[in-house]
Parts: sequence; structure tokens; C-alpha cells
Amino acid sequence: MHIREMLAEAERTGDPSFSFEYFPPKTAQGVQNLYERMERMYNFGPKFVDITWGAGGRIAELTCEMVVQAQTYLGLEACMHLTCTDMGEERVNDALQKAYKAGCTNILALRGDPPREKEKWEATDGGFRYARDLVAHIRKSYGNHFDIGVAGYPEGCDDNKDEDLLLDHLKEKVDMGASFIVTQMFYDADNFVRWVGKVRERGITVPIVPGIMPIATYASFLRRANHMNCKVPEDWMAKLEPVKNDDVAVRDIGKTLVADMCRKILAAGIRHLHFYTMNLAQATRMVLEELDWMPSADRPLKQALPWKQSLGFG
Ligand code: FAD
Repeated sequence: MHIREMLAEAERTGDPSFSFEYFPPKTAQGVQNLYERMERMYNFGPKFVDITWGAGGRIAELTCEMVVQAQTYLGLEACMHLTCTDMGEERVNDALQKAYKAGCTNILALRGDPPREKEKWEATDGGFRYARDLVAHIRKSYGNHFDIGVAGYPEGCDDNKDEDLLLDHLKEKVDMGASFIVTQMFYDADNFVRWVGKVRERGITVPIVPGIMPIATYASFLRRANHMNCKVPEDWMAKLEPVKNDDVAVRDIGKTLVADMCRKILAAGIRHLHFYTMNLAQATRMVLEELDWMPSADRPLKQALPWKQSLGFG
């Protein structure tokens, strides 16, 4: 099923929904552990899962394998991330074919970050320069088979702090055929709501899916906020800093702060949240519990792909 249809359903019914993001682990044991965790987190009720693209060699292969695993064996609708970093057209086509054959119908089309050893991003010979070129290529090659999402930056992005220019580029990606936007993580709901207003002023009407990063430990919370250059509201620091060495207290306060942020986002009319799980269950589960979104007798799990229900897994 296309993500835009799931998002439209959430809009139509008013029932909020959510999705999870996972990344390819570095070791075989890590992959096995993640598959088991994904199976358990299936029972939390995500509408779909994203698998990030790790540029280069084995990790890129693993993204494709994880999409197959999610789509074919775990009964989870998958969205495959795909970047243009170090990728000629042939390798892009190969990845798209693998997704197509696995029954995957959703791609998040990205430019990608520069490889670790390089400071600046450079296009590969015979590759694509911007995410918009990748969007256009996927549409040209596959028509409407794939639903295509693109990245949005309410907090600005590393190589471009000019919000208006970033919005121009976002509009180009949508004009090329993207039908939804997933944002970077953020902790400032007011700034996100302001940014959504600016996106709409540009005439961009496709759904916007906010990226939510639950808080697992104080160190990882600060590291990620600094890495993504995202603003942390002062009252968050005032509440988290005094308990920074107590992981249990940080998670407990963090779940309330993140759930309150989610409520502000929902109050602004957004119906779907995308959780950056960092391949872990606990912090995401705590936010879902705080929102009262975990499946229960009143809120039964209903996202299973039809074959999974018929096998009695769902
Ligand atoms: P683009 O939209 O192509 O923009 C890249 C830069 O080029 C920006 O500065 C933009 O302003 C500029 N630009 C765009 N169009 C033009 C134009 N016409 N003329 C001049 N300049 C232009 N990275 C990964 O490696 N793997 C992942 O799985 C991954 N998943 C992500 C998921 C989300 C939701 C987000 C927000 C980011 C993700 N990233 C991922 C990181 C992403 O690849 C980087 O942020 C990257 O630097 C930009 O990618 P983009 O698709 O936004 O690029």
C-alpha cells in the first residue's frame, strides 16, 4: 500500500497513526537481534517501517535485504530509503529492482550525506546530483508503482541554512513527483508548526510527516540534538539536566516531554508521526504508552498485511 493512502486514511478518519524507522546494523548478530525486535515492535501497531540507506557495499545490500525481510516475512509495509551518494544510475536501478521484486511500493528519495572521508558531497560519475533528480528518475522508470517521499528540514540542514532556499528545493522535489515529506528530528514543536505554515504558503500541499526522536539517555539526547543542530526548548534542559546521570529518570521525564510535543503537533492538524527508533524499543514504547496509543482491547492491532493475519500472526 502506498504511504500517501495510509496518510490520507489517517486524515479522513482523524485516527492518528505512526511508523518506525530502523537502520542496518553492523554485525550479523545485530541484524538477527533487530529482526526479532522488529517482530516484537510489529505488535505496537506501526502503519509502516522505514529502512535507512547506508551508502556503500554491504550496508547498502543490507538495506535491500531488510526491506525484503520486513515486507515478505515480518508482514510490515516497508519504505526503502535510497540515496545518490556513491551511486551511479546502474546501482540505483539495481536497488529499485530489488525493492520492486520484494513488493515494496514506497521509497524515500534522498541525496545522502558525504561519505565519512569526504567533507563535501560530490556527485558520482553517471549518478544524480540532487534528490529531485532521483525522484524524477524513479517516476520516469516506474510510473506510479512507487510512492515517493522526500526529506524536509524545519531546523535547516548542514550544507544550507537558508530556509527560503531550502523551501524552493523542497518544492522542486514535490513538483518532480514526491507525494509526502518526512522531516528531520526536532524538539521545538512551535518552530515545526511555524515551518509547516511556510511550506503551505509555498503551495506545497502533500502530507508532512514529523520525525520524532524519543529520549533514551541524556548523553544520546544531547549528542543527537547537537549533531542535527536542533533547538532544545529551555524547559526541556531545565528538567533533564538535573537527572542526567539517572537513565530511568531521563527516560521517564523524556517520554512526557516528547509526548507533549506530539500532542502539540497533533493539535496543529498533523495525523501521522514517524519515530526514529534507533533500533531500540523501550523509549518509543514509553512515548506510545504515554499517548495511550499502544494496542489494547479498545484499540486492537489492525495494520497486519492480509497474509500475516491469515497465518495467525497478526
Ligand atoms: P536535496 O534535497 O537534494 O538537498 C541537498 C542540498 O542541495 C541542500 O543543501 C539543498 O538546498 C541543495 N539543493 C537541492 N536542490 C537544489 C538545486 N536545484 N539547486 C541548488 N541546490 C539545490 N541519509 C542517508 O545517507 N541515508 C538515509 O537513509 C537518510 N535518511 C534520511 C531521512 C530523513 C527523513 C532525513 C531528513 C534525512 C535523511 N538522510 C539520510 C540525510 C540526508 O541524506 C542528508 O540530509 C542530505 O545532506 C540531504 O539530502 P536531501 O535528500 O534532503 O537532499
